[in-house]
Amino acid sequence: MADEKAIELAELDAIAIGRLNGVGPKKEKGLTHFEIHTVLDLLTHYPRRYIDRSNQVPIAELAPGEEAMVVVTIDSMSTRPTRNRRVKMTTGRVHDHSGTLAITFFNQPWRQKQLGPGVEAVLFGKVDLYRGKRQMSNPVVDLVGDQTGRIVPVYPQSEKAGLTTREIGEWVAESLRRVDNGRGFAEPLPEAVLDRFDFVNRSAAYHGIHAPDSMAEIQVARRRLVFDELLRIQLALVLRKRAIERDSRGVEHQLDGELTRAFHDRLPFPLTGAQARVIGEIEADLAKPVPMHRLLQGDVGSGKTVVAVSSMLDAVQGGHQGALMAPTEVLAEQHHLGVSELLDGFTVPDSATLMGERPLKVDLLTNRVSTPDRRRILAELVAGGVDIVIGTHALIQEAVSFHSLGVVVIDEQHRFGVEQRAALREKNVDGTVPDVLVMTATPIPRTAAMTVYGDLDVSVLDEMPPGRTPIRTEWVRTGWGSGEGQDEGLDASRVWQHVRDEVVAGRQAYVVCPLIEESEKLEVASAEEVFERLRADELEGLSLGLLHGRVTPVEKEETMRQFREGRLSVLVATTVIEVGVDVPNATIMVIVDADRFGIAQLHQLRGRVGRGADESSCYLLASAETPEGQARLEAIEATTDGFELAEIDLELRGEGTIMGERQKGRNDLKLASLRRDKQWVASAREVAVDLVAADPTLERHELLANEIGLFLGEADTAFLLKG
Ligand code: ADP
Ligand code: MG
Repeated sequence: MADEKAIELAELDAIAIGRLNGVGPKKEKGLTHFEIHTVLDLLTHYPRRYIDRSNQVPIAELAPGEEAMVVVTIDSMSTRPTRNRRVKMTTGRVHDHSGTLAITFFNQPWRQKQLGPGVEAVLFGKVDLYRGKRQMSNPVVDLVGDQTGRIVPVYPQSEKAGLTTREIGEWVAESLRRVDNGRGFAEPLPEAVLDRFDFVNRSAAYHGIHAPDSMAEIQVARRRLVFDELLRIQLALVLRKRAIERDSRGVEHQLDGELTRAFHDRLPFPLTGAQARVIGEIEADLAKPVPMHRLLQGDVGSGKTVVAVSSMLDAVQGGHQGALMAPTEVLAEQHHLGVSELLDGFTVPDSATLMGERPLKVDLLTNRVSTPDRRRILAELVAGGVDIVIGTHALIQEAVSFHSLGVVVIDEQHRFGVEQRAALREKNVDGTVPDVLVMTATPIPRTAAMTVYGDLDVSVLDEMPPGRTPIRTEWVRTGWGSGEGQDEGLDASRVWQHVRDEVVAGRQAYVVCPLIEESEKLEVASAEEVFERLRADELEGLSLGLLHGRVTPVEKEETMRQFREGRLSVLVATTVIEVGVDVPNATIMVIVDADRFGIAQLHQLRGRVGRGADESSCYLLASAETPEGQARLEAIEATTDGFELAEIDLELRGEGTIMGERQKGRNDLKLASLRRDKQWVASAREVAVDLVAADPTLERHELLANEIGLFLGEADTAFLLKG
């Protein structure tokens, strides 16, 4: 039972930071740099790391070759250029009670100002012998001074903000003291949850993270605070899912599935195990009275279209309609062709005809459809004459109404916003809400999906159709015409020779470049430049096409058609081809300056080849100077498994990019990491589901409900907690 009188986070959020001792207007301004406005903000401004003073060594005992920590006072610093003029060296002398030490920094001239004479600093680094003297090169520096306490927290600090980690530490200590002297922290977690995970209470957690007595205490505190963050997010998501279900009446489907079965039987291949499983998951959703809200993750080529068509047929079977929404006109047109072909010859019951049936009707609705056609399609959608409609945003932007829209499939989810999905769910005249399946080819790790798409159920196509020849991927360590080093061209010439060989054998190739405009500064090869050079030199005599963002739609269409028909052998393009090109005869993908692309993008690009029976190759041309760029290319080289790559991507980039789009308002993931804390994401989800099941409006968990409000905003929360 929570103590009603203890202090809630909301109360701490109501205390302005300026009310703490020692926080005057100037410091207050500095704190706003960190988005710290209230005492709660300060208490959730966590240490970046900790210095364990028991590892501290006197300078006199430093051993060359070993890493160590010293607490020193700066004597002097100076900066000079080295013989290699591009490197600036800052050197200095420091001391403690036991002796003196030399320190060196490369290309960090600002250290001279930071480390003025008399400044106290903690240095952590490896000690070397240089000309017989001990020195530390590029040590980690903390301006914590000689503080008491064995474990010293180091806060993110900014010189610009004029704040030291010591000051922040003092204000935090004062805040904690005030809470303790007051009524202590209120405990929002039920006893059972605390017991189950052996969590410390909230007071212990805030003390342990800010003022620990041991390194072990930090871990215990962190665990608890991480869980609090993740639970708030999961509760909000689970409540949102429940709110959607609560507020909507689904379409009743008739799932004895004659049409769907016939469709499966007529496919030229058996379903993969994963397809069969996912179709089962979807049909279980369709059978329920609440509308489906499901995300389908499946790598490029995993066979999502068959799942989509199968689901739409489930709707058509019962006299309802299906809609498939694609992000671009090209993709919509491609889907329209493909789906029409798959469903050619199918019929649906129709009592108005002599035979009692009529052909199943698939139609296309985009902004390119002529006005008379559009008028006809719109009329037929309302009348129910069109069974499956495929289109772009036009499907929701226009005054489109349906006779009875049963299943909506949205392809390439990341290009559609939540609002657009909502609009599509309001299309039925009778007020029923269609079932929604969202498909994405950008796999994200399971725990990340749980967090980012936590208001959707998730299905995964984790099995590729058989009989594909794997794509051979090679990182060719070379720049594109970056000039330096004549031997660079040699490696690349092998690649272009391979392109020629494949073209001679009747196959086609893509060459993808990162930027359109020439940028001398970045030395990025532009598509134009690459195109001109390949045509004149490496690929002379072959038929080349060029596509980039400034090519008009009509020209683009024409070039694409020529490439599809095989009249162009090589397509030089920027990332405009990322989505929606399907040319099984293309067997080579060359990516220029590949280190400028993200993992997901490289993976998508590579997915453009390997679509036919012939062996395909992907070449990554890049000199990759940063460790992160190298890691990305090595990952792409090592595996074609999209989920594995997604894990690596998350590892390399952190969760910021994943969370970015979906997170509204205040970001509550300050301590938790979707990478490090995977198991806690799953546990928090489980607890959230249980809590909401037992107490749908959280009336018996008022503190938790209040905290969600604190981080989500009042209006949102009121909606979620509506009875
Ligand atoms: P995605 O949209 O997931 O990238 P598609 O639906 O376009 O993939 O399918 C890719 C290719 O695989 C298509 O040519 C499709 O006909 C084929 N395919 C789909 N399912 C199977 C299967 N079970 N066995 C063999 N081939 C399949
Ligand atoms: Mg697809």
